[in-house]
Amino acid sequence: MFKTTVAGSLPKPSWLAEPNRLWAPWRLESAELEAGKRDATLIAIKEQEDAGIDIVSDGEQARQHFVHGFLERVEGIDLAHKVEMGIRADRYKAMVPQVVAPVRLKARVHAMEAQVARVHTKRRLKFTLPGPMTIADTIADRHYGDRAKMAFAFAELLNEEALALERDGVDVIQFDEPAFNVFMDEVTDWGIAALERAAQGLKCATAVHICYGYGIKANVDWKATLGREWRQYEAIFPAIAKSSIGQISLECMHSKVPLSLIGLLHGKDVLVGAIDVASDAIETPEEIAAIAAEAAKYVPANRIQLCTNCGMAPMRRDVAYAKLAALAKGAALARERVG
Ligand code: ZN
Repeated sequence: MFKTTVAGSLPKPSWLAEPNRLWAPWRLESAELEAGKRDATLIAIKEQEDAGIDIVSDGEQARQHFVHGFLERVEGIDLAHKVEMGIRADRYKAMVPQVVAPVRLKARVHAMEAQVARVHTKRRLKFTLPGPMTIADTIADRHYGDRAKMAFAFAELLNEEALALERDGVDVIQFDEPAFNVFMDEVTDWGIAALERAAQGLKCATAVHICYGYGIKANVDWKATLGREWRQYEAIFPAIAKSSIGQISLECMHSKVPLSLIGLLHGKDVLVGAIDVASDAIETPEEIAAIAAEAAKYVPANRIQLCTNCGMAPMRRDVAYAKLAALAKGAALARERVG
């Protein structure tokens, strides 16, 4: 009951990448960079364990960005000539690579960090990949001419890597789909089917992380336009509940999503976001236990994990790990109370 985990990314050490920003440039090169990514993965595992996190991740230490880390190993993409594109229905502009030919994996994408993490922890290990719809929304299409078709092409590649991660000993594979609360019609039309294609044949636990984005300004401004209650999930949760994906990770701390909506996720494990990644204030165990107790009104407590709202990549390291320690303490308190 109330096992703790992270949504995915954690801040990188300042010797590896420029701190406190997304898309942070690397501070090392070639062989030194590879060694640095390996060492940072090891540190991320150790710090999560020391904070008391039950299901740890590699902290995404070996990728610059959660989508582009994957795209770097895909053939058919022109990474050298990026173009400006509106992302998440024009919420913000980003320079994105272009798909110029059929996509294919050149090689394994995340073998090094998955294997390093696996060797160095006995805890359950979670690994994140971008979801197919989110990839399709973060890249310019000059080849497929159809978003769904392109998303399914990426889903096949994600599946190839996911199956390999499972062979590396990963216990949970999570696909990150922040695009899921932006394109609600497409989610039910083809988004969930593409996600299931990405997870096809996996015997380990599977998860999808849906959220309202990192705590960057464009997202904070967008959230301010969504009104008093965020009910976007109401449209997609019934379809997600019918899918083959086992766990759903959501932003709940300081969120305007009515927590009662998680009751629509029948039969799923719910990863309740109990750590706000848009604020440096450290949550109290009391606040975390309160969210856990509230969530337990709608989902059986043994199906709830306590998690961060979203990735922590752009945060200060000391703040991020203090928040993880608070999460573990809050979970212990929640176990005492609800148990
Ligand atoms: Zn997120």
